[in-house]
This record gives sequence, C-alpha cells and structure tokens, in this order.
Amino acid sequence: MAIPEEIINEIKYKNDIEQVISPYVNLKRRGKNLVGLCPFHGEKTPSFTVYPESGSFYCYGCGVGGDVFTFTKLIENLDYVEAIKFLAEKSGVNLPENGYDDSMSRLKDTIYAINRDTARFYHEYLMSQDGKWALDYLVGRGLSISTIKHFGLGAAPDSWDSLLKFLKEKGYTVSEMISANVVGKSQKGSYYDRFRKRVMFPIINIRGKVIGFSGRAMPGEDKEGGKYVNTSDTPVYKKSENLFGMNFAKNHCDERIILVEGNMDVVSLHQAGFQNTVAALGTSFTMEQANLISRYTKEIVLTLDSDAAGQKAVKRAGEILKNTGLNVSVVSVPDGKDPDEFIKKNGKDRFEALLDGAKSEIEYKLLVAVKDIDIDSDDGRLKYLTKATEIIAESNDVLTRDLYLGRLSEKYGVSKSSLSLRVDELRKKRIKAQKKKEISDIIKPKFNSNDINPERRKYPGACVAEEAIMTVLLKNPDFFPEVKEKLEPDKLITAFNRRMYSLIYECLLNDCMPDISYFGEKLDTRELSFLVSLINSDSVQKNPLSVLKDSMKVLDDERLKIEMQSSLSNEDWALNMQKLIEQKQKGN
Ligand SMILES: [Zn+2]
Repeated sequence: MAIPEEIINEIKYKNDIEQVISPYVNLKRRGKNLVGLCPFHGEKTPSFTVYPESGSFYCYGCGVGGDVFTFTKLIENLDYVEAIKFLAEKSGVNLPENGYDDSMSRLKDTIYAINRDTARFYHEYLMSQDGKWALDYLVGRGLSISTIKHFGLGAAPDSWDSLLKFLKEKGYTVSEMISANVVGKSQKGSYYDRFRKRVMFPIINIRGKVIGFSGRAMPGEDKEGGKYVNTSDTPVYKKSENLFGMNFAKNHCDERIILVEGNMDVVSLHQAGFQNTVAALGTSFTMEQANLISRYTKEIVLTLDSDAAGQKAVKRAGEILKNTGLNVSVVSVPDGKDPDEFIKKNGKDRFEALLDGAKSEIEYKLLVAVKDIDIDSDDGRLKYLTKATEIIAESNDVLTRDLYLGRLSEKYGVSKSSLSLRVDELRKKRIKAQKKKEISDIIKPKFNSNDINPERRKYPGACVAEEAIMTVLLKNPDFFPEVKEKLEPDKLITAFNRRMYSLIYECLLNDCMPDISYFGEKLDTRELSFLVSLINSDSVQKNPLSVLKDSMKVLDDERLKIEMQSSLSNEDWALNMQKLIEQKQKGN
C-alpha cells in the first residue's frame, strides 16, 4: 500500500490520540499519560495507557498496543486502510483517489456482495417449489413465514454447482467465491458448492451485512460434515468474534442477553418474543464474543443442558465472563430439553419464569455437584460438602458466601462455623495464588513474553539485549550509525527479534522515522503491540548510548556461547573454540 507518508502524517496530526480514544474509553490523567479500562479485554482496574508523547496506547493487561490507526482498526473492526480512510474523513483530509492500493478493502466489498447474492439465492430457492423439502422442515419446526423472512433463512440445493453457476452469471470469479468460502476446491482441482442440502442461516453482523453462513443438515442426514457447517474465517468473518442473532439482539437486550446453543433455538426464541437471544457459532464461547455482548448489556443468561457437555460449557463461559463485568446466571431447561422444545410444550410465560428464576452461577454449580454423589451416605455427604465449600469459596462476595453456607449448614446438619472455617482457609490459598499471579503479570506483560518470542526461554539474555537495542534505536534514531555496520539484522539470535530488528534497520537505512505508523501496515496487531511496548518502556531512559553498546557486547558474548555450545560434541572442540576467540578478538 502506498498512501503517501505526508498524508498519513497529516491525518495523524489532525487526530490527536487522546481525542480519538476518549469517546470509547473513559480516560483519567496519570502523570503525563492517561489511563482507563481497556476496551479490548474485560478488566476492573485500568491497565490501558495512552501516551500522548509517542502518540500511542498500550494495555498492560492484554498487551495490545498501537497508534490512532491501530486503535480505530480494532475498535471499529476495520482493516488498516479502512481505518486510515475513517480518520481521514473524520478530520476532513482528502485522500488521493486510487493513489493507493486498497485491494483488501475491494476484496472485502466483493465478498460482502457475494454473501448478499448468495443469501438471496438460498432464500429464493427455499421459497420455490424445489425448496419445499426445506420449507416443510422449517414450518414443521414451528417457524412462521414472516420469521423465515425476518432472518432471511434459505436452503442450499442438493447440488454440487448450482450456486457456483449462479454466482458466475452474476460476474464473480471462482477465486472470489473461494475467498468468500461459499465455494470449495477439491483435491482433484474441481470446484464445488460448500453447502449442499442444508437449511441456511445467514450470519449478519451488527452493521447489518451478511458476513457468512451456517448450514444445518436435515435430521438424519448429518453424516457428511456434521449437523452444522459454518463459513470458515474469511476477510470479513471471524467466527470467534461473532454471534448468531446479535444483529437483532443488540436492540433488545437492555435487561439481559440469552445465550443458547443452536441457531434454530435463536430463531424460534426470537419468534416467541425473546429477541435478546444469541448463539455462539459452532465455537466454544470466546473472550471476543463476551466483549461484544458487554458493549450492549450487563447481564447474560446461559441456557444450557445439565449434561456433561453443558456443564463444561458453563464452566468455560463462566471463566471467560468472570472478568468482563457481565453478571452471569444459568438456566437449566427441565428434562434436558432445548429452550425451543420447552417453549413449544410449556409456552412462553413458563420460559420467562425460568429466566427470571435463573440461578446464579454458584447455585447452578452446587446443583450440578450433587449429581452422581450419594448424599444419603456419610461418605457421600462429606464428599459433597468438600466440593460445595470449594465452589462457595470462589465467590468474592461475603454476603453470597454467607447465604450459601447457611443453606448448606441447615440442609446437611453441619455447623456453619466449621464450614466457614474451611471456606476461609480455601480463600486464603486462592488469594495468595492470585497475588502471585498478578505480580508475575505485572512484571511480565503478556505480549512481551514467551508467547510472541518462543525463543525467549532458551536465550533470555540475548532477548533482553536485542530488545534493549531496538528500544534505544526506536527512541534515538540518531544512534543508527553505531549499529549500521556492526549489527546487521542476521546477527540477532532470536528469529522473532531478528525480524523486528530488520524492519527497524530497513526503516533507518531509508532515513524514515521509526514511529508506530511506519510499522502499522507491516505488522500484525500482536507484533505492533510488541514494538509499542518497547517504544513506551522506561528501561533505557538513562544513557541510551551506553545501553546500546553494552547490549551489543552482551549479544556478541551470547552468540559466542551458542556457537561454542553447538560445537561441544565435536572432537575439534578446542580448535573451534580457539577460532571463535580469535574471531572475536578481531571483531573487537
Ligand atoms: Zn487490554
């Protein structure tokens, strides 16, 4: 891409980072920086920091960072060029027409168009004589025609190429269809419709665009590909970030959002008047989905089976939701039914009553824990009380703990004080473990640790030196002559840092300013966040030049050490070592 640098700088200049971020995050001044609650991960104490000086932000909780463009890209769910356009428009900067390569945003527009046409194709097929088998099924499940139209439901014909032919006639290329993931390519190299003989649920994002599909097999025909086949991730669709039904639910969820398991449940619950229902799209519930929900409501009700899979899902969702500030409660639908079946049999009001009586997470866990335990025996009772006190100890609210301990004591005839003694003990342990974790989290920001540079554990010393060198150069580009000859990129030890360093090296070699915008389009969010953490680090504030020189020396020593180690098994070890030492002396 080549939006001219002057224009990027002009946009950046006109979009002050504090002004760009403050509509989304409540920022408070702390020294020369600003802090607030991170909009990208759930947190209760602010670790999201804005650095007006470097025009950047960095979150010490989740490790995301960048500049105004990155922030806009992430919060508005745009790609990089779209984010630049977005800010340009906002600040009245004219972008040169076609002066840059916006092939990604063109591809995205094409995929949206393919999705829209595909949704129409499926819908028209469903409503035609040929699609009667699918319409019969949907109507048989109790859906009205107006609900079917409201959701734009459709059906994929039992054919390998009818959609392919239809889209070809509309003028799309096969490779565009593959990018949209509605057409696949076989091993033999032939192309085929990805969805065949399925009822089709278009997935619509909160901006009202069709971003993908979820296809449900007919009952008894789910052998090939499973009950649901979903669009894989495409440039416009990431299943971990979307929820089926969210496009409608977002307008009806002042009180709460209901999370169900299947798309069919969503559609029939909406029809029954519960338009605040969504489903995760064939994934287990993710942090991104939780964040999406927390933008619209404060309360989430999980309706899940009380079977083993349901329990596991509750446990997982509970863990994810713990730090989002969302209140979680759980409804288990009686007799192991789907919410859909339950409403059909017992009516809407009974379901409403179930929702109102939704149990807190603790209550639900206590209920589940009692299963499979014989509480009539002393042994079983003890086992249950052990488990139950562990569950109660998880609550951070003293009144909640007291309430449940009282109930337990009454029900099982044990003294409340002995139960609370155990809970206190468990909590002490938990708090200790938590503190330890918090401290290690603060010391080691996540993106800055092993997960981004897998060689950190193996070469910790080298990593520190490499990062110090990059930090110095990012802050003091005028020191580049110091490293230009002596430290070419291939001399770095860890592969990840080598790659980061070579970008910085190239930038300085071309006399560019090594600021965040320069790297914005070359790196992904994680990598960019890493550089931002270096730019804003205080570690090389004093005497950067000597830090630079010392770090280069450390790196030389580390390299020597590694080379020596690798020749340890060699019979010519002594010889090699001597050679290396000579080389080093020459280098100095
Ligand atoms: Zn964060």
